[in-house]
Amino acid sequence: MTKSAMDRQIELRLLDSDVRFTKGRKAVVAGLASAPGPLSAAELAETLDERVPLSSLYRSLAILEEAGVVAHHLGAKGLTRYELAEWLAGHHHHLVCVDCGSVSDVQIPPNQEESVRNLVAQIAALASFAPTDHALEIEGRCSRCA
Ligand SMILES: [Zn+2]
Ligand SMILES: [Zn+2]
Repeated sequence: MTKSAMDRQIELRLLDSDVRFTKGRKAVVAGLASAPGPLSAAELAETLDERVPLSSLYRSLAILEEAGVVAHHLGAKGLTRYELAEWLAGHHHHLVCVDCGSVSDVQIPPNQEESVRNLVAQIAALASFAPTDHALEIEGRCSRCA
């Protein structure tokens, strides 16, 4: 999705919730869209051109999450990170570094995704559970920490 197409989609979604797509919220979305993985509010603040108080970032993130544009990710050590919702970012999985705590997105080819879906269905079937979605968290060490 191009940036302008994404902005348009988000604008429509926010309109449904009576939320304006302000300059600040656009900056939050752009920051999350260009990140290699979910960001904490503090990490997001570092990527922004203007200095934005964390309190207002948390408010923007909460509003965007409420409207279904942003999703949160609970990483190692209970740190909350944020990313664009899957309908915007595409289905993907996460690599979580157990040393530095960084979280990176990883998208896998369709045939591998198919294998993951089959495995998930088999695991869920063991508990008579009907899976609708899944999220894979791979823990280990990132290239900087390995
Ligand atoms: Zn690391
Ligand atoms: Zn992600």
